[in-house]
Amino acid sequence: MEHYLDNSATTKVSRAAAEKALELMCENYGNASSLHSLGIKAEAELENSRKIIAKALGCESDEIYFTSGGTEANNTAIFGAVKTLKRRGNKIVTSSVEHSSVLEAMKELENQGFEVIYLSPDENGVITADKIKNAVDNKTILVSIMTANNETGSINDVSKIQKIVVNNNSPALIHTDAVQAFGKINIKTKKSGVDLMTISAHKIHGPKGIGALYIKKGKRIAPLHFGGEQEKKLRPGTEALPLIGALGVAVSELEIEKNYEKISALNSYAKSRLSEIQGVSFNSKDDALPYIINISVKGIRSETMLHFLAQNEVYVSSGSACAKGKPSHVLNAMGIDKDTADSSIRISFSKFNTEEDVDFLVKYIKQGLETLVKKQY
Ligand code: PLP
Repeated sequence: MEHYLDNSATTKVSRAAAEKALELMCENYGNASSLHSLGIKAEAELENSRKIIAKALGCESDEIYFTSGGTEANNTAIFGAVKTLKRRGNKIVTSSVEHSSVLEAMKELENQGFEVIYLSPDENGVITADKIKNAVDNKTILVSIMTANNETGSINDVSKIQKIVVNNNSPALIHTDAVQAFGKINIKTKKSGVDLMTISAHKIHGPKGIGALYIKKGKRIAPLHFGGEQEKKLRPGTEALPLIGALGVAVSELEIEKNYEKISALNSYAKSRLSEIQGVSFNSKDDALPYIINISVKGIRSETMLHFLAQNEVYVSSGSACAKGKPSHVLNAMGIDKDTADSSIRISFSKFNTEEDVDFLVKYIKQGLETLVKKQY
């Protein structure tokens, strides 16, 4: 039986979400822009999904824009904000532990001549208020700091960051990549105060290839694509209604508090079981998102352990799924030494996980330690 502990990479799609996608492909297959009844039905589905997401985020429906996922929402937010505000300044503030869809966008902006400041986290993986305070000034046009980190689960106080940016008299738009946080902790756009927020469906039991960007009313970002009138011309192109409908269903199925409690208990159980193993150390801190536990298994390279576990139907990730074997920039920025980072494994939970999954993980890490170390030395 498989034990899937890689839910920060992606999650299993909920049956109801998949059924909605099927319905919107095979029955209600109209184009939301069409004027006939099938089109009107499709538009109603589109707006219903938008409404569900807006309600979950505590904002208005017209503040939600559908994109092809977290990567596109991050790119739209970053390049769109910079394009709009470039006359006000040349400076951008982000962190060194962002997801590649932010970091690579920042690299491109550096190539275009923008000054990008990469704040490093403290030993807990958190971007402190002081660092923001010192970095942001009246020439800063964008601040992009993630809500929860995808490798360690470290959580940033985005609402505090927003207040500092405003107090520093900065014209910056404030963006947060909330892909790993949305649906797991209660984040509300109004409370956080941010101007732009990214979410993605496939981390919350929705399908891959769909996400959304929240844009605060009154804030404008320039479009990166040109074409039809869809998504108020910010994201033209026929809407991916089957995916959008499925995202709506996945969001309507969220039970944040109930699952947080369940996952916190599972996290404690996993930490206590993993602590039994000599050679296991924890890279995630206690106040991180309970859905993610990043550990290192002394003496065994991440990929070696990952493949051993996978042979036994226990699925985890080495560092970040998107890093594909590259050394973790996140653990490095947290001051974790290279050997420890090279042997890191990310365990990430969903509501479907049980203590049995953890028991199998522990069993096979122990077995791996017995057999793999001997192989390596
Ligand atoms: N941001 C974070 C923090 C992520 O973990 C991911 C996915 O791993 C993304 C952005 C990209 O989202 P998507 O896969 O929907 O493009």
